[in-house]
Amino acid sequence: MSALLEIDNLRVMFRRPGLVRRPPPFVAVDDVTLRLGAGETLGVVGESGSGKTTVARAVLRLLRPESGSVRFDGHDVTEFGRVPKWYRRRVQSIFQDPTTSLNPSWTVRDIVGEPIRVHENVGRRELVLRVGELLEQVGLDPATDQRRPADFSGGQRQRIGIARALATRPELIVCDEPVSALDVSTQSTVVNLLNRIQRETGVSYLFIGHDLTLMRHVSDRIAVMYRGRLVEEGPAEDIYRDHAHPYTRMLLDAAPTLDPEEQARRRRRRADSVTAAVMTESSQGCSFAPRCPSAIERCLTEVPASRPRAGGSVGCHLAPTLPQTNSRSLTSSSHS
Ligand code: SF4
Repeated sequence: MSALLEIDNLRVMFRRPGLVRRPPPFVAVDDVTLRLGAGETLGVVGESGSGKTTVARAVLRLLRPESGSVRFDGHDVTEFGRVPKWYRRRVQSIFQDPTTSLNPSWTVRDIVGEPIRVHENVGRRELVLRVGELLEQVGLDPATDQRRPADFSGGQRQRIGIARALATRPELIVCDEPVSALDVSTQSTVVNLLNRIQRETGVSYLFIGHDLTLMRHVSDRIAVMYRGRLVEEGPAEDIYRDHAHPYTRMLLDAAPTLDPEEQARRRRRRADSVTAAVMTESSQGCSFAPRCPSAIERCLTEVPASRPRAGGSVGCHLAPTLPQTNSRSLTSSSHS
Protein backbone atom coordinates (compact mmCIF):
# COMPACT_ATOMS: atom_id res chain seq x y z
CA MET A 1 0.00 0.00 0.00
CA SER A 2 1.41 3.42 -0.94
CA ALA A 3 1.98 6.15 1.65
CA LEU A 4 -0.32 9.17 2.01
CA LEU A 5 2.59 11.52 1.33
CA GLU A 6 5.52 10.53 -0.89
CA ILE A 7 8.42 12.92 -1.41
CA ASP A 8 10.98 11.74 -3.96
CA ASN A 9 14.39 13.27 -4.74
CA LEU A 10 13.14 16.74 -3.85
CA ARG A 11 15.45 19.58 -4.83
CA VAL A 12 14.62 23.24 -4.12
CA MET A 13 16.84 26.10 -5.25
CA PHE A 14 16.59 29.83 -4.55
CA ARG A 15 17.98 32.27 -7.11
CA ARG A 16 19.91 35.15 -5.59
CA PRO A 17 19.89 38.65 -7.06
CA GLY A 18 23.20 40.27 -7.98
CA LEU A 19 24.02 43.76 -9.27
CA VAL A 20 26.99 42.91 -11.51
CA ARG A 21 27.22 39.15 -11.60
CA ARG A 22 24.46 36.91 -10.33
CA PRO A 23 25.70 34.53 -7.58
CA PRO A 24 25.00 30.81 -8.09
CA PRO A 25 21.59 29.63 -6.86
CA PHE A 26 21.33 28.50 -3.26
CA VAL A 27 20.37 24.83 -2.91
CA ALA A 28 17.96 24.81 0.04
CA VAL A 29 16.88 21.15 -0.27
CA ASP A 30 18.85 18.48 -2.11
CA ASP A 31 17.72 14.96 -3.03
CA VAL A 32 15.30 14.47 -0.13
CA THR A 33 13.10 11.35 -0.17
CA LEU A 34 10.52 10.79 2.58
CA ARG A 35 7.36 8.77 3.26
CA LEU A 36 4.42 9.46 5.57
CA GLY A 37 1.67 6.89 6.14
CA ALA A 38 -2.00 7.62 6.94
CA GLY A 39 -2.53 8.31 10.64
CA GLU A 40 1.22 8.65 11.28
CA THR A 41 3.55 11.48 12.22
CA LEU A 42 6.80 12.15 10.42
CA GLY A 43 9.05 14.52 12.35
CA VAL A 44 11.54 16.52 10.29
CA VAL A 45 14.23 17.95 12.54
CA GLY A 46 17.24 20.20 12.04
CA GLU A 47 18.71 23.57 12.87
CA SER A 48 17.81 26.83 11.20
CA GLY A 49 18.91 26.59 7.55
CA SER A 50 18.63 22.79 7.40
CA GLY A 51 15.86 22.97 4.79
CA LYS A 52 13.12 21.45 6.95
CA THR A 53 10.71 24.39 6.55
CA THR A 54 11.42 24.45 2.80
CA VAL A 55 10.26 20.81 2.63
CA ALA A 56 7.06 21.84 4.46
CA ARG A 57 6.52 24.75 2.05
CA ALA A 58 6.98 22.42 -0.93
CA VAL A 59 4.31 20.08 0.48
CA LEU A 60 1.93 23.03 0.93
CA ARG A 61 2.83 24.09 -2.64
CA LEU A 62 3.94 27.52 -1.43
CA LEU A 63 6.97 27.07 -3.70
CA ARG A 64 7.82 25.09 -6.82
CA PRO A 65 10.77 22.70 -6.55
CA GLU A 66 13.57 22.53 -9.09
CA SER A 67 13.10 18.78 -9.48
CA GLY A 68 11.68 15.75 -7.73
CA SER A 69 8.09 15.10 -6.77
CA VAL A 70 5.68 15.51 -3.86
CA ARG A 71 2.75 13.10 -4.13
CA PHE A 72 -0.30 13.33 -1.87
CA ASP A 73 -2.70 10.39 -2.13
CA GLY A 74 -1.23 9.67 -5.56
CA HIS A 75 -1.52 13.26 -6.90
CA ASP A 76 1.71 15.03 -7.87
CA VAL A 77 1.52 18.35 -6.01
CA THR A 78 4.42 19.80 -8.01
CA GLU A 79 2.34 19.61 -11.20
CA PHE A 80 -0.49 21.79 -9.87
CA GLY A 81 -0.87 25.04 -11.77
CA ARG A 82 -3.12 26.65 -9.19
CA VAL A 83 -3.51 24.68 -5.98
CA PRO A 84 -6.94 23.01 -6.23
CA LYS A 85 -9.55 23.66 -3.58
CA TRP A 86 -9.71 19.96 -2.63
CA TYR A 87 -6.00 20.06 -1.73
CA ARG A 88 -6.48 23.07 0.55
CA ARG A 89 -9.31 21.19 2.25
CA ARG A 90 -7.44 17.91 2.69
CA VAL A 91 -4.05 19.41 3.63
CA GLN A 92 -3.99 22.06 6.33
CA SER A 93 -1.23 23.78 8.31
CA ILE A 94 -0.36 25.08 11.76
CA PHE A 95 2.36 27.71 12.09
CA GLN A 96 4.94 28.58 14.70
CA ASP A 97 3.63 31.92 15.89
CA PRO A 98 -0.10 31.92 16.67
CA THR A 99 0.08 35.69 17.28
CA THR A 100 0.91 36.48 13.65
CA SER A 101 -0.99 33.62 12.02
CA LEU A 102 -4.39 34.68 13.44
CA ASN A 103 -6.14 37.81 12.18
CA PRO A 104 -6.24 40.04 15.29
CA SER A 105 -9.41 41.88 14.24
CA TRP A 106 -11.44 38.71 13.70
CA THR A 107 -13.38 36.87 16.40
CA VAL A 108 -12.53 33.25 17.15
CA ARG A 109 -15.78 32.27 15.43
CA ASP A 110 -14.67 34.09 12.25
CA ILE A 111 -11.20 32.51 12.36
CA VAL A 112 -12.25 28.91 13.00
CA GLY A 113 -15.40 29.19 10.86
CA GLU A 114 -13.70 30.64 7.78
CA PRO A 115 -12.39 27.34 6.31
CA ILE A 116 -15.86 25.82 6.80
CA ARG A 117 -17.46 28.76 4.95
CA VAL A 118 -14.93 28.42 2.11
CA HIS A 119 -15.23 24.67 1.63
CA GLU A 120 -18.81 23.84 2.64
CA ASN A 121 -22.26 25.26 2.11
CA VAL A 122 -23.46 25.61 5.71
CA GLY A 123 -25.96 27.99 7.35
CA ARG A 124 -25.09 30.30 10.23
CA ARG A 125 -26.63 28.05 12.87
CA GLU A 126 -24.64 24.98 11.80
CA LEU A 127 -21.48 27.08 11.49
CA VAL A 128 -21.80 28.25 15.11
CA LEU A 129 -22.36 24.66 16.25
CA ARG A 130 -19.36 23.36 14.28
CA VAL A 131 -17.09 26.10 15.65
CA GLY A 132 -18.26 25.26 19.18
CA GLU A 133 -17.44 21.56 18.64
CA LEU A 134 -14.00 22.41 17.29
CA LEU A 135 -13.24 24.68 20.25
CA GLU A 136 -14.30 21.90 22.63
CA GLN A 137 -12.10 19.44 20.72
CA VAL A 138 -9.04 21.61 21.40
CA GLY A 139 -9.97 22.28 25.04
CA LEU A 140 -11.38 25.81 24.69
CA ASP A 141 -14.73 27.05 26.00
CA PRO A 142 -17.20 27.42 23.07
CA ALA A 143 -18.65 30.45 24.87
CA THR A 144 -15.43 32.35 24.07
CA ASP A 145 -16.08 32.29 20.31
CA GLN A 146 -16.87 36.01 20.14
CA ARG A 147 -13.53 37.00 21.66
CA ARG A 148 -10.47 38.01 19.67
CA PRO A 149 -6.95 36.48 19.67
CA ALA A 150 -5.56 39.19 21.99
CA ASP A 151 -7.89 37.95 24.76
CA PHE A 152 -6.07 34.58 24.86
CA SER A 153 -2.69 33.31 26.08
CA GLY A 154 -0.05 32.00 23.62
CA GLY A 155 -1.03 28.38 24.25
CA GLN A 156 -4.72 29.16 23.82
CA ARG A 157 -3.99 30.99 20.57
CA GLN A 158 -2.19 27.93 19.27
CA ARG A 159 -5.28 25.89 20.19
CA ILE A 160 -7.35 28.30 18.08
CA GLY A 161 -4.90 27.70 15.21
CA ILE A 162 -5.30 23.94 15.66
CA ALA A 163 -9.11 24.26 15.69
CA ARG A 164 -8.92 26.24 12.44
CA ALA A 165 -6.70 23.56 10.86
CA LEU A 166 -9.15 20.83 11.92
CA ALA A 167 -12.19 22.69 10.55
CA THR A 168 -12.03 21.03 7.10
CA ARG A 169 -11.43 17.55 8.58
CA PRO A 170 -8.03 17.29 6.84
CA GLU A 171 -6.09 14.07 6.27
CA LEU A 172 -2.72 15.79 6.62
CA ILE A 173 -1.65 18.75 8.77
CA VAL A 174 1.74 20.35 8.17
CA CYS A 175 2.87 21.55 11.62
CA ASP A 176 5.69 24.07 11.17
CA GLU A 177 7.35 24.38 14.61
CA PRO A 178 3.91 24.67 16.27
CA VAL A 179 5.23 24.72 19.85
CA SER A 180 8.56 26.55 19.44
CA ALA A 181 7.11 29.91 20.52
CA LEU A 182 5.48 28.44 23.66
CA ASP A 183 6.90 27.91 27.16
CA VAL A 184 7.93 24.37 28.10
CA SER A 185 4.83 23.43 30.13
CA THR A 186 2.50 24.77 27.42
CA GLN A 187 4.53 22.86 24.81
CA SER A 188 3.72 19.52 26.45
CA THR A 189 -0.02 20.26 26.72
CA VAL A 190 -0.18 21.24 23.02
CA VAL A 191 1.84 18.12 22.05
CA ASN A 192 -0.53 15.94 24.12
CA LEU A 193 -3.48 17.65 22.43
CA LEU A 194 -2.07 16.94 18.95
CA ASN A 195 -1.44 13.30 19.90
CA ARG A 196 -5.02 12.92 21.21
CA ILE A 197 -6.50 14.51 18.09
CA GLN A 198 -4.52 12.08 15.95
CA ARG A 199 -5.85 9.10 17.90
CA GLU A 200 -9.41 10.42 17.55
CA THR A 201 -9.36 11.48 13.90
CA GLY A 202 -6.58 9.47 12.24
CA VAL A 203 -5.02 12.64 10.80
CA SER A 204 -1.36 12.53 9.67
CA TYR A 205 1.18 15.13 10.75
CA LEU A 206 4.28 16.36 8.98
CA PHE A 207 5.88 17.86 12.06
CA ILE A 208 8.75 20.33 11.63
CA GLY A 209 10.95 21.13 14.62
CA HIS A 210 14.45 21.55 16.00
CA ASP A 211 14.11 19.82 19.40
CA LEU A 212 14.81 16.12 18.89
CA THR A 213 13.71 15.22 22.42
CA LEU A 214 10.31 16.78 21.84
CA MET A 215 10.02 15.27 18.37
CA ARG A 216 10.43 11.83 19.87
CA HIS A 217 7.14 12.31 21.74
CA VAL A 218 5.11 13.20 18.64
CA SER A 219 6.71 11.23 15.83
CA ASP A 220 6.44 7.68 14.53
CA ARG A 221 9.48 8.32 12.32
CA ILE A 222 12.07 11.07 12.40
CA ALA A 223 14.06 12.53 9.52
CA VAL A 224 17.17 14.55 10.44
CA MET A 225 18.23 17.25 7.97
CA TYR A 226 21.49 19.17 7.73
CA ARG A 227 22.17 21.91 5.17
CA GLY A 228 19.44 20.77 2.82
CA ARG A 229 20.19 17.04 2.91
CA LEU A 230 18.71 14.14 4.80
CA VAL A 231 21.45 12.74 7.05
CA GLU A 232 19.50 10.16 9.05
CA GLU A 233 15.96 8.76 9.02
CA GLY A 234 14.19 5.99 10.90
CA PRO A 235 11.70 4.99 13.61
CA ALA A 236 11.58 7.71 16.28
CA GLU A 237 12.82 5.49 19.14
CA ASP A 238 15.76 4.21 17.04
CA ILE A 239 16.79 7.73 16.10
CA TYR A 240 16.63 8.78 19.75
CA ARG A 241 18.37 5.75 21.30
CA ASP A 242 20.48 4.19 18.55
CA HIS A 243 21.34 6.95 16.08
CA ALA A 244 24.41 6.63 13.90
CA HIS A 245 25.00 10.17 12.62
CA PRO A 246 27.16 12.62 14.62
CA TYR A 247 24.78 15.47 13.77
CA THR A 248 21.86 13.58 15.35
CA ARG A 249 24.03 13.23 18.45
CA MET A 250 24.74 16.96 18.36
CA LEU A 251 21.03 17.77 18.21
CA LEU A 252 20.41 15.56 21.23
CA ASP A 253 23.25 17.29 23.06
CA ALA A 254 21.49 20.60 22.47
CA ALA A 255 18.53 19.47 24.58
CA PRO A 256 18.69 20.66 28.22
CA THR A 257 19.74 18.13 30.88
CA LEU A 258 20.15 18.32 34.67
CA ASP A 259 22.46 15.25 34.81
CA PRO A 260 26.01 16.54 35.71
CA GLU A 261 27.76 13.50 34.13
CA GLU A 262 25.86 14.02 30.90
CA GLN A 263 26.73 17.74 31.03
CA ALA A 264 30.46 16.84 31.38
CA ARG A 265 30.24 14.37 28.48
CA ARG A 266 28.68 17.07 26.30
CA ARG A 267 31.39 19.60 27.24
CA ARG A 268 34.08 17.11 26.14
CA ARG A 269 32.27 16.44 22.86
CA ARG A 270 31.94 20.18 22.18
CA ALA A 271 35.69 20.69 22.75
CA ASP A 272 36.51 17.87 20.31
CA SER A 273 34.11 19.36 17.83
CA VAL A 274 35.86 22.76 17.89
CA THR A 275 39.24 21.06 17.23
CA ALA A 276 37.81 19.20 14.26
CA ALA A 277 36.19 22.36 12.89
CA VAL A 278 39.53 24.18 12.76
CA MET A 279 41.15 21.32 10.87
CA THR A 280 38.48 20.72 8.28
CA GLU A 281 37.87 24.06 6.55
CA SER A 282 36.85 22.59 3.23
CA SER A 283 33.83 22.82 0.96
CA GLN A 284 34.40 19.30 -0.44
CA GLY A 285 33.08 16.04 0.95
CA CYS A 286 30.58 15.72 3.78
CA SER A 287 28.88 19.06 4.52
CA PHE A 288 28.98 18.27 8.24
CA ALA A 289 32.76 17.68 8.27
CA PRO A 290 33.69 21.18 9.56
CA ARG A 291 31.67 20.52 12.71
CA CYS A 292 32.04 16.77 13.02
CA PRO A 293 34.08 15.42 15.95
CA SER A 294 34.33 12.01 14.23
CA ALA A 295 35.56 13.24 10.82
CA ILE A 296 38.29 11.26 9.03
CA GLU A 297 40.31 12.20 5.93
CA ARG A 298 37.81 10.56 3.59
CA CYS A 299 35.05 12.87 4.88
CA LEU A 300 36.86 15.87 3.34
CA THR A 301 36.78 14.55 -0.22
CA GLU A 302 33.82 12.21 -0.55
CA VAL A 303 30.12 12.94 0.01
CA PRO A 304 28.69 10.05 2.09
CA ALA A 305 25.97 8.06 0.32
CA SER A 306 22.74 7.29 2.15
CA ARG A 307 22.62 3.63 3.15
CA PRO A 308 19.99 1.47 4.84
CA ARG A 309 20.20 1.01 8.55
CA ALA A 310 17.82 -0.69 11.05
CA GLY A 311 14.50 0.32 9.50
CA GLY A 312 15.83 3.63 8.21
CA SER A 313 18.84 5.19 6.52
CA VAL A 314 21.97 7.16 7.38
CA GLY A 315 24.48 9.19 5.37
CA CYS A 316 27.83 8.88 7.13
CA HIS A 317 31.06 7.10 6.13
CA LEU A 318 31.46 5.70 9.63
CA ALA A 319 27.92 4.38 10.12
CA PRO A 320 26.86 1.88 11.38
CA THR A 321 30.12 1.31 13.23
CA LEU A 322 30.31 4.90 14.43
CA PRO A 323 31.29 4.93 18.12
CA GLN A 324 29.06 6.80 20.56
CA THR A 325 32.13 8.56 21.96
CA ASN A 326 34.64 10.58 19.93
CA SER A 327 37.48 8.10 19.81
CA ARG A 328 38.07 8.59 16.07
CA SER A 329 38.32 12.32 15.70
CA LEU A 330 40.18 13.78 12.73
CA THR A 331 42.91 14.86 15.10
CA SER A 332 43.71 11.30 16.17
CA SER A 333 43.11 9.60 12.80
CA SER A 334 45.39 11.99 10.94
CA HIS A 335 48.23 11.00 13.26
CA SER A 336 47.62 7.28 13.25
FE1 SF4 B 1 31.27 13.09 10.27
FE2 SF4 B 1 32.50 11.95 8.21
FE3 SF4 B 1 30.19 10.98 9.03
FE4 SF4 B 1 30.30 13.37 7.76
S1 SF4 B 1 30.80 11.34 6.90
S2 SF4 B 1 29.13 12.88 9.60
S3 SF4 B 1 32.23 14.17 8.57
S4 SF4 B 1 32.11 11.01 10.17
